[in-house]
Amino acid sequence: MIKVETVKTYLDRCSKCGGCQAVCPLYGETMAEPLVARGKLFLIKNHIEGKLELSPKMKELMSLCLLCKACMENCPNKIPVDQLVLWARQKIAQEKGISFVKKNIFQHLLKNNGRLTIAARLGYFYQHSGLQWLVRKSRLLELFGDLAKKESLLPEMAKVPFRNQVPRLLPVSRPQKRVAYFTGCLTNFVFPDIGYAVINVLRNNGVEVVIPEQWCCGIPALASGDEETAVDLARKNVKVFQRENVDAIITDCASCGSTLKEYAELLETPEARSFAEKVLDFSQLLADVVGFQPGEEELSGLVVTYHDPCHLRRGMGISEAPRSLIKAVPGVTFKEMKESDRCCGAAGSFNLTYYELAVSIGRRKAKNVQDTGANVLLTACPSCIMQLRHVLQLEGSDVQVLHLAQLLDKTYSNAEKKS
Ligand code: SF4
Ligand code: SF4
Repeated sequence: MIKVETVKTYLDRCSKCGGCQAVCPLYGETMAEPLVARGKLFLIKNHIEGKLELSPKMKELMSLCLLCKACMENCPNKIPVDQLVLWARQKIAQEKGISFVKKNIFQHLLKNNGRLTIAARLGYFYQHSGLQWLVRKSRLLELFGDLAKKESLLPEMAKVPFRNQVPRLLPVSRPQKRVAYFTGCLTNFVFPDIGYAVINVLRNNGVEVVIPEQWCCGIPALASGDEETAVDLARKNVKVFQRENVDAIITDCASCGSTLKEYAELLETPEARSFAEKVLDFSQLLADVVGFQPGEEELSGLVVTYHDPCHLRRGMGISEAPRSLIKAVPGVTFKEMKESDRCCGAAGSFNLTYYELAVSIGRRKAKNVQDTGANVLLTACPSCIMQLRHVLQLEGSDVQVLHLAQLLDKTYSNAEKKS
């Protein structure tokens, strides 16, 4: 947790110029001053000066932030608003506690892979036993506000988690690099296809992949103010990955990648610093380190556009690598969309908590996608994929939403896929 003195220094830098208003997706939808960075900084300052309590309203206003960093990018004084909002969330969690549901998810599921796998299997059972069909048919959830809409956001769970489907080591002959793959929870439990695409593309480019035992990166806990759980998870991951003799630790998830990078500040140990230095996004490894070679399959007829995940573009500073990889695919036409770096509204569990707001933000993204005439939308974050599929479906669009790795994988004739 950053020190209160540091928070005060940042707060004093705000000149109230309003530069953050123009880019804040929440302000764009609501025109509410407390939701924009300037308003949030005002609230935090008033709390520190003893003029404002950590009331339920204050808690709600602090949770109404996508942590997208757009305000920071547009701020003349480069105030790290997301860090200040996280500071406030941590203080609220410490003084007022976190909800019963979140506490149990963070402390009893995220820290325990066995229980997390059981929860994922229960999700799969719910979806495939006819129970989900029955619940939807009975319209039972409509009795509980927008629960039915939130339930429709649930992605289809994998029958078997990705890490249980693949061996620990995926060798190649004469490897040019050896990497450890941090799969993240979504690829593991929801999108094994993305995992297969990642390893297939890497192996076709001479990269040996090792997949160690691992835990959630900690972002759900961190974003809810539960720093203690995030620190525990970071320690576990650092301990396991530091045993691997690898050139890099790669991830296919922008949210995981930016969180893993933050382990250095979170743990403040030499091991965590060395871990964080090795973390690379999948696209960065391929474009900047390995020198991506596509396969021989020509993907004619694909018109592709790309959504920049906030955590990749502003969190890790990566925007060119994915584009250069797309442009290297034979036969593909690339069309840049308007506001490609504007948040899609997913923001972890934001779309579950504030469904209507997240959908309005997402609809703007869906319109920008459709305006390009693309038939494929690519991105580099499984959480964005879920939100983008949902909002495009609501718009009646048939644009296919894929992870960048899945497009690259289509160029190889030896693609290996399971689910
Ligand atoms: S852009 Fe920066 S300095 Fe200007 S009001 Fe927003 S947070 Fe304050
Ligand atoms: S991080 Fe994003 S959602 Fe939060 S205040 Fe800044 S621009 Fe708005």
